[in-house]
Amino acid sequence: MTTRAIGIDLGTTNSCVAILENGEPFVIPNDEGGRTTPSVVGFGPDGDRLIGQMARRQAATNPEQTIYAAKRLIGRKVSDEEVRRYRDTVPYAIIPHENGDAWLEINGEMVPPTQISAVILDQMKEVAEAYLGEEVHDAVITVPAYFNDAQRQATKDAGRIAGLNVKRIINEPTAAALAYGLGKQDQERIAVFDLGGGTFDISILELENGVFHVRSTNGDTFLGGEDFDNRIINFLLDGFEAEHGVDLKESKGALQRVKEEAEKAKKKLSSQMEANISLPFIAHGSDGVPLHLETSLTRDQLENMVSDLIEQLVPPCENCMKDAGLSKEDLTSVLLVGGMTRMPRVREKVAEIFGQAPNDGINPDEVVAVGAAIQASALNNEIDDVLLMDVTPLTMGIEIAGGLMEPIIDRNTTIPCRKSKIFTTAMDNQDMVRVHILQGERDMAADNKSLGRLELHGIPPAQRGVPSIEITFAIDADGIMKATVKDDGTGRSADLRILPTSGLSQDEIQQMIDAREQYHGDDGKRKELALAKNELDGLIYNTSRNFEDFADLLGPEEEDLIQQALDDAEDALETEDLIAIQDSHDVLAEAAQKLGDAIYKKGQGGGQSSSASSTSSVVQETPEIEEPDFLDENTFDD
Ligand code: AMP
Repeated sequence: MTTRAIGIDLGTTNSCVAILENGEPFVIPNDEGGRTTPSVVGFGPDGDRLIGQMARRQAATNPEQTIYAAKRLIGRKVSDEEVRRYRDTVPYAIIPHENGDAWLEINGEMVPPTQISAVILDQMKEVAEAYLGEEVHDAVITVPAYFNDAQRQATKDAGRIAGLNVKRIINEPTAAALAYGLGKQDQERIAVFDLGGGTFDISILELENGVFHVRSTNGDTFLGGEDFDNRIINFLLDGFEAEHGVDLKESKGALQRVKEEAEKAKKKLSSQMEANISLPFIAHGSDGVPLHLETSLTRDQLENMVSDLIEQLVPPCENCMKDAGLSKEDLTSVLLVGGMTRMPRVREKVAEIFGQAPNDGINPDEVVAVGAAIQASALNNEIDDVLLMDVTPLTMGIEIAGGLMEPIIDRNTTIPCRKSKIFTTAMDNQDMVRVHILQGERDMAADNKSLGRLELHGIPPAQRGVPSIEITFAIDADGIMKATVKDDGTGRSADLRILPTSGLSQDEIQQMIDAREQYHGDDGKRKELALAKNELDGLIYNTSRNFEDFADLLGPEEEDLIQQALDDAEDALETEDLIAIQDSHDVLAEAAQKLGDAIYKKGQGGGQSSSASSTSSVVQETPEIEEPDFLDENTFDD
């Protein structure tokens, strides 16, 4: 039996999962009813973890072990300029792995951001499984179009660690275009402008009869909503320090509260002209007096604070149109994706850049997951008539003499693709070549991203310039590259080794897959214990209340029995012993039954029934009430 394939938008700030049901997209809500889930994971001191909204809620009290925006670090080096800048703005610790990759330190342990993304993907998988009532394996996951090879590979690894068979990695703007264009027959040329929590992407596509051809893509992987939030945060911190002489950066808890309030204010200012900011008891003065942060921010002030960020949106859009060979007049529609496109100033800038008002008809938070679900269904043969022709966002090449980069596959080449170039030796009798593989647009190798090195041994002795060494790059439909080096002249087999410069090894990935399975076992036990404790807690509460009010209805023996059962239950609640908790629940429920009987025998129970039935462990059973016929949906219309 083939199981359903899901589409996941693994966002910097929020993630979303969707499927196609009878050809119609459906966004699956999580167990709190949210259509998106915060991409946040919080870790308790003994390794227990909270995901999504629950993780977000405890961020202010557990800032150092609450990881958000892991997507900004995935597949990156600590030495990357952007990571260095970002490191100073987050309360959690970003540390270098031995290969230089940016990892996290959580409860004293080193954790790769890939693993955090895996936890979020696992959660989205569970959301889908809860809805579908069956296991899910196949998924399409989206990434920013501008993600490089290492970031794509790391995202794919995260999917594997989460127990998913990642059928395809697709670009977020392309996914948005799929969602927009499904079923449309006319030829259209559209720009997809995607400004999310951490990244900015712009793509230009041509659509016609189910063929989605990406013409060009551009963007900035380190420009997003968080940069806007940081401007407000700095405004609040500076203002507070000037007024009270207290630096709130010194308290990670206070900083987290400021961060949350800053984002709230930013969102409010998308629909209001002014936002009040209130953070009572945020700090103490030197005399111990509590201090409050009370201020306000206007939309104009915000727009002034972020004017340079708004300007940074322009060059990628212009370069993207130039690469596509199109001008703004050629575009039939501009789609907005990502929560930040709700900001009025962003919309105005988009209208200015493209000379037309953006399309208002799509939901910027969900459209990417919907597009991923469409692609997932197409790959699963659940629907047809969709052909996606995406492009590689960055040039791939190798380092040549003089520290220069020689391109092999140019950016915006349609993928999958394969290209070869012939090189030769630089010295007489050179028996080995070492190929340094690079990705990026700069002329000097050192300014581009290093993807890895290949070595070819066993070249027969020859004068420099004579051997013919063929280097082939092949990029698959996920945008991930494989490189091979061949000695053409002799046709002899050569010794080929890949020395990855970053990313997780197969062993590390396997360890994380094993840890996930272990975690799932532990999570199940933890959940059962938590549920049993909740149930016992509720029963103790209700029984105690009734006992206080109606103890005089009981004989001394019954009174002792209930008191004893209550004491034992309180003791059991303090333990982590599931069996003891369940047993004391049963004993207390039976004792409470005697109280219930006494109350109703005396005919005094009516006023107490609401407290007695407020938990699932009701003292007396309430009969099921049949809904009268007239209580249908229409009754609620007015
Ligand atoms: P995404 O990664 O697409 O979920 O985008 C999330 C980003 O959009 C975060 O930085 C949010 O603060 C931001 N955002 C969400 N809603 C709004 C809004 N109404 N106004 C401004 N920014 C918003």
